[in-house]
Amino acid sequence: PKLVYDFAEGNKTMKELLGGKGANLAEMTNLGLPVPPGFTISTEACKAYLSTGSVPAELADEIDHHVDVLQQKMGKKLGQADDPLLVSVRSGAAVSMPGMMETVLNVGLNDDSVNGLAHQSGNPRFAWDAYRRLIQMFGKTVLGMEGDVFEDAIEAAKQAKGTSNDLDLDADDLKTLVQTFKQAVHDHTGREFPQDPRTQMDLAIEAVFGSWNSERAILYRRQERIATDLGTAVNICSMVFGNLGMDSGTGVCFTRDPSTGQPGVYGDYLQNAQGEDVVAGIRNTVPLADLEQIDKTSYDELMAIMATLEGHYRDLCDIEFTVERGKLWMLQTRVGKRTAAAAFRIATSLIDEGVIDTDEALKRVKGAQLAQLMFPRFDADAEKELITKAIGASPGAASGKVVFTSAAAVEAADKGEKVILVRRETNPDDLHGMIAAQGILTSRGGKTSHAAVVARGMGKTCVCGAEELEVNVAEGTIKVNGTVLDADATISIDGTTGEVFVGEVPVVASPVVQYFEGSLDADSGDELVASVHRLITHADEVRRLGVRTNADTADDAARARRFGAEGIGLCRTEHMFLGERREAVERLILANDDAECEAALAELEPLQRGDFLELLGAMDGQPVTIRLIDPPLHEFLPSMEDLAVKVALAQERGQDPGRDATLLAAVQRLHEQNPMLGLRGVRLGLVIPGLFAMQVRAIASAAVELKSQGKDPRPEIMIPLVGAIQELHLARDEVTKVLAEVGVEWSIPIGTMIELPRAAVIADQIAEAADFFSFGTNDLTQTTWGFSRDDVEGSFFSRYLEKGIFAVSPFESIDVEGVGALVRTGVDRGRATKPDLKLGICGEHGGDPDSVHFFHDVGLDYVSCSPFRVPIARLEAGRAAL
Ligand code: PEP
Ligand code: MG
Repeated sequence: PKLVYDFAEGNKTMKELLGGKGANLAEMTNLGLPVPPGFTISTEACKAYLSTGSVPAELADEIDHHVDVLQQKMGKKLGQADDPLLVSVRSGAAVSMPGMMETVLNVGLNDDSVNGLAHQSGNPRFAWDAYRRLIQMFGKTVLGMEGDVFEDAIEAAKQAKGTSNDLDLDADDLKTLVQTFKQAVHDHTGREFPQDPRTQMDLAIEAVFGSWNSERAILYRRQERIATDLGTAVNICSMVFGNLGMDSGTGVCFTRDPSTGQPGVYGDYLQNAQGEDVVAGIRNTVPLADLEQIDKTSYDELMAIMATLEGHYRDLCDIEFTVERGKLWMLQTRVGKRTAAAAFRIATSLIDEGVIDTDEALKRVKGAQLAQLMFPRFDADAEKELITKAIGASPGAASGKVVFTSAAAVEAADKGEKVILVRRETNPDDLHGMIAAQGILTSRGGKTSHAAVVARGMGKTCVCGAEELEVNVAEGTIKVNGTVLDADATISIDGTTGEVFVGEVPVVASPVVQYFEGSLDADSGDELVASVHRLITHADEVRRLGVRTNADTADDAARARRFGAEGIGLCRTEHMFLGERREAVERLILANDDAECEAALAELEPLQRGDFLELLGAMDGQPVTIRLIDPPLHEFLPSMEDLAVKVALAQERGQDPGRDATLLAAVQRLHEQNPMLGLRGVRLGLVIPGLFAMQVRAIASAAVELKSQGKDPRPEIMIPLVGAIQELHLARDEVTKVLAEVGVEWSIPIGTMIELPRAAVIADQIAEAADFFSFGTNDLTQTTWGFSRDDVEGSFFSRYLEKGIFAVSPFESIDVEGVGALVRTGVDRGRATKPDLKLGICGEHGGDPDSVHFFHDVGLDYVSCSPFRVPIARLEAGRAAL
């Protein structure tokens, strides 16, 4: 097979074979743009090298041939003594791996040709500097020498000269430096620096091949989930020099502003410099517009080329170019990276310009970008004092006074104060405090900890797992890295980056959220908002997946509805058991006999009914999936440690611990080593008589009442944590009985969650007793991997991510191979029994972009996610359908 391609032989579709850089150089060459001639050695050659450990035998001949062609084109020979052809040897993989692999410039220089270059250029300093750079890059890249060896020698030369500026080293100084470098090569490798240009080239090619498997490249690929066997291409390109004088230079430009998406020309230029000087920031660049004054011919040509490239790639291009003595050369182009705002604006601008259609525009924006546009942010220009950095668990930017308890948060909020609730971790009882606070900061737990999940649900900023924080609630202080903050201190937390700052950092509100909230019109003149509106509207037109929300309160439900939710996919009723209702729950748990138990339930029922009236009212005409109580009952009791201390103290003082002693006994009785695997979900409903019945009566009577008012309530009743068909039959019988008792005259769907591997596997049986399934991928992930969802993220997950065991937490993005396979099994088996079985997902994955695509592919009917992720799910569901 052919291993080497002239630039004229390739095109932009050949990335896999020629790498991104090679494919685009070929494309530009064939567009007739001024690309320095050259050729690309394919990734196939690299793969052969990687599998055998040596360069394929036929490669040398092919390279010979292409070098010949290149020499003819250029009218000079590689390394020719009086006028050398010089080349760059650059890596270029199919997937961009910035800075991971190697480059060697000025190949072809040696002790003879350096004089030829000096003569031809009329600039000996330039020639010796080029030779110095070759030996330095070759030493590091090909010979594996430490960069310091060279840097130190340059430093010494400058010191000897009494200067700190590289530019003060003249031709003679650089000539001496070349001798020093050559000696260093000999000292470190026992070999002379190779004088034969072709040997230099071959060794450089091999080094680029080998750099595919450098430690940092391997790590980068693991983290970015890039396949390990792609290999890199190698581009051999004739050198052009931007450092031949003031009529030369180098630059980078974009065909639109990559930060805002505004049309126009953006870039930087540096006279008398090579690309690496720009990167190193040795001198300040000037705006590209200045090139018009410096060299109008090159500027005009560049403008024309930029227009050509944008028209051709139908997208924002980023370009590297060099001017060599007034002649413009294109060194690289690619479809450029851009900010979230720019992505939306460019996509819709391109529709208006007639370049792409709306489908294509929708494909070019991502849910993650939309999410970024929805975060309130800290003002980037504000001064900040960072004290620690932890897990950014729920995006946003929040500032406020430190409070340590939910009660303090509520009290402060009532006074109109902004607070940050700082806890070791939060529990369901902190809900009021979390609602009252601007943001939540915890020292334990990860992205699926209670604090994180609830905060995301509320769209509230949260940073968790800040282990450097020593939260001392008793003293009312936080210690962090030597700083001590008390309860009155103000802090600011960034839920995107996980950063924590002292003091108040000002924030800027997101217009995109205002648009979704309905307080800013799509045609208000904000172009970004207009772009978002157009693309999400199109997503709604094309998507097949429905989008529902996870919401437990009428407020959340109403917001989600404004954000475009088409129903509630999960109402977690346990959140309705908190606050002042706790006492009734305690009485239920402490009940000594059936009568006490019934009394406690009777107390709870009207309260639950009130909740459902509000919720079903807010979602009138839309389905509301209400899940019967799931968590273990002890979660509604005070902590065992706290109670034990209280009781012991009372006893020590000779007082009667009273109710606390009863509570403690109950907590001890209910205590489980692994409550997540214990008495919860359907098990609870089957063991505590009347519990499910009470909830169902509340749902049914609320619905009946709303109906009688002419409303259209659409509750759906969902049984959690089912693993056996018998469980579902028993629960379903009870539900059906209560519905009949209440006198519901229409059919309320009764379904189940699929959140245990066993349920997925026997989904064909379960479908017999279920009107719908909703995949609970949080528990399904927990039970499939055997990872505790409340612990892992704060403990060993960071190591797992570092080691590349997964690129993203499986609690965040669905593990397609494992958990996903169980979802697929559940879908297939469920539908085998009941072809029209309604299928949804209500785990955290419902709002994760990649997961949404998977759920579309697997054939679910809807995803359900927290209100703030509803727009993201809508957008991604649209993209998945294209
Ligand atoms: C789930 O397990 O995915 C689910 C939605 O239920 P919860 O998070 O309440 O356990
Ligand atoms: Mg669950």
